[in-house]
Amino acid sequence: MAITRLLIANRGEIALRIHRAAREMGIETVAVHSTADADAMHVRLADHAVCIGPPAAKDSYLNVAAIISAAEIAHADAIHPGYGFLSENAQFAEIVEAHGITWVGPKPEHIRTMGDKVEAKRTAGALGLPLVPGSDGAISDPVEAAKIAAEIGYPVIIKAASGGGGRGMKVCTGPDELETLMQQAGSEAKAAFGDATVYLEKYLGNPRHIEFQVFGDGNGNAIHLGERDCSLQRRHQKVLEEAPSPVISPEERDRMGGIVSQAMAGMGYRGAGTIEFLWENGEFYFIEMNTRLQVEHPVTEAITGVDLVREQIRIADGKPLSVKQEDIEFNGHAIECRINAEDPWTFAPSPGLVSNYHAAGGMHVRVDSGLYAGYKIPPYYDSMIAKLIVYGRTREGCIMRLKRALQEMVIGGVKTSIPLHQALMNEPDFIHGDYTIKWLEEWLAERQA
Ligand code: ADP
Repeated sequence: MAITRLLIANRGEIALRIHRAAREMGIETVAVHSTADADAMHVRLADHAVCIGPPAAKDSYLNVAAIISAAEIAHADAIHPGYGFLSENAQFAEIVEAHGITWVGPKPEHIRTMGDKVEAKRTAGALGLPLVPGSDGAISDPVEAAKIAAEIGYPVIIKAASGGGGRGMKVCTGPDELETLMQQAGSEAKAAFGDATVYLEKYLGNPRHIEFQVFGDGNGNAIHLGERDCSLQRRHQKVLEEAPSPVISPEERDRMGGIVSQAMAGMGYRGAGTIEFLWENGEFYFIEMNTRLQVEHPVTEAITGVDLVREQIRIADGKPLSVKQEDIEFNGHAIECRINAEDPWTFAPSPGLVSNYHAAGGMHVRVDSGLYAGYKIPPYYDSMIAKLIVYGRTREGCIMRLKRALQEMVIGGVKTSIPLHQALMNEPDFIHGDYTIKWLEEWLAERQA
């Protein structure tokens, strides 16, 4: 049955992004919101809006009962979870489907498998993806762990099976500290994710973060839409992303893209997914898979011309993929800057009243944001308030245009990360595409010195 009314179980720019795709498909939208978001742009633009609870995310955007009730009250026939919140919650997906509502996302069993990083790694290995050397699954015995660490060689990284958002990782440089760090990682993981399971991986010294966008139709057909380079990170959080990666050749893209899409076809994967790799000395190492739309998806849209949210909705509706692998061409270059309401150098959050606002514009400039003059950025949620996505025929042209666009952006009344992005645009290493996941933190430390 065709989707006619889509509930968007999210807020901010991604809720707007989904609303726009739905509108362009002739689908009505239902916004849900906390009391703190009553004046948000996604609520204003949607066809219907339902308040689902107080500001705290656990009582609103993570409140499954309230969201399902909202869907029933508003007669929504589908739910799109966006990213974050309930997007990778397999149980939520099952509950949605059990209510006869279409889930715009992967099959719940795939969300579950990939949400457990130990399981995800095992599955990825079985599907032929190259892995970071490490423990074969979860590890709790320090003696066994020491044996494995010695085999793969120090430094090693201890990671939480249920980890996410860059949390719950410990780098261990030698056998003396292994047991202590394992205990620490375990108890931190237990506190953060309710699961103390950890595993070991070789710590790659200076890799890039390169991820592939994939799509499956759920019936054994899958495609890839190339890679994104997300190496510019602070505390394992992405700051700026680009597509294509400055270090991946078209041949390498085809080769690796072929491997990931074959793996997805083999799983019978449905919907959008991202396979994340670390890349060092020309080799890819799988680290995890995200079974949802990513924040940085627009850079892929810019260079392929494919609307990824539209594709997600089509697939959820039981339609085939609208493009075949051979139809997908990679043209030009795109960069996304994540603009946060925070001090650009101390990273202290800066919520509050947006006194004035002017979005950059012009050819090949896209701003995904729910901001407007007079909007009050609530302190309860993620600090990302806008994404500036710029396209150019070449990487150099893209950077020139991005500099121009950053200059045009006006977000008054709060501090933002715009000055950080402006400084990056003048850095020779960035201009040459010469950076790894370590680069940004080192650069920030030097600036502070
Ligand atoms: P999360 O789900 O918390 O984001 P990931 O497994 O995706 O965790 O890792 C997040 C980031 O942590 C990576 O982008 C990379 O910067 C770093 N990282 C993860 N695994 C390793 C590793 N084996 N060696 C070096 N860095 C790593």
